[in-house]
Amino acid sequence: YLNLGLILLLNIVLLFGVWLAFKNVKKEIRLAENKSVFVSNVSHEIRTPLSLISMFAETLEMGRVPTQEKRQEYYKIISKEAQRLTAIVNKILNFSQVEANKSSYILKAVDLSDAVEEVLKTYTYHLESKGFKYSFLREENLIIEADKDALQEVIINVLDNAIKYSKDNKHIEIQTGTSGNRAFMSIRDRGIGIALKDQKYIFDKFYRVSTGDLAKGQGTGLGLSLVKHIIARHNGKIKVKSELGKGTTFTVYLPLKQQ
Ligand code: ADP
Repeated sequence: YLNLGLILLLNIVLLFGVWLAFKNVKKEIRLAENKSVFVSNVSHEIRTPLSLISMFAETLEMGRVPTQEKRQEYYKIISKEAQRLTAIVNKILNFSQVEANKSSYILKAVDLSDAVEEVLKTYTYHLESKGFKYSFLREENLIIEADKDALQEVIINVLDNAIKYSKDNKHIEIQTGTSGNRAFMSIRDRGIGIALKDQKYIFDKFYRVSTGDLAKGQGTGLGLSLVKHIIARHNGKIKVKSELGKGTTFTVYLPLKQQ
């Protein structure tokens, strides 16, 4: 009996080991697939602005642009595309810093609602020019200990996604408040939503849901992974609630500073 029991136990342990190994291999394959999609996305994102810059610069250089007005337009395109390139390179560099835990955060008392408001101020023009309506419901005195730049990076990434993944219903609701001894910030859109099966992967690095033409070649799959790292370093949590075709709400929870 003892032997039989032992054999059974060994078998269970063995099966468990095989299952664990299988799960790990599956995860590795998934990450490798994400990575190759990432490389092709990023190559596209880098190549497009680069070829636009060289094309317009060459045309200008050859003196083929007759009017000052046209020249001005071309300079504008060059500078806009250069900014796009800088943004994507910064995002990748920033991500590797954060992922390697190399970024040092300077934690200070920050008012969460003020930090959100500041970002919204710089976004007003961008939101309005794209036809978005937004509201901000704020609670006062939400003091947390945070690195303000990193915190605003979180807000920007979630807000950018709300813009990127909205279709015709261009409404974004932003809210700050308290939940127990934590402060929260939520950003809700009425966009394309995320299927339940994808929700567990969206915080993985490189992961992107195939959304057809919408936002094609407009992402790296690094944003939410970066957000998750930053929030974790602030002892916080991020949650997603979403329904396909209806919209998405991301909520970030951060501990309130002890008075
Ligand atoms: P990306 O650079 O692709 O936007 P993220 O890491 O920021 O990368 O997001 C990962 C994926 O999660 C996106 O590719 C998208 O499919 C999905 N996603 C993120 N935010 C939203 C949102 N607000 N609505 C719908 N889908 C979203």
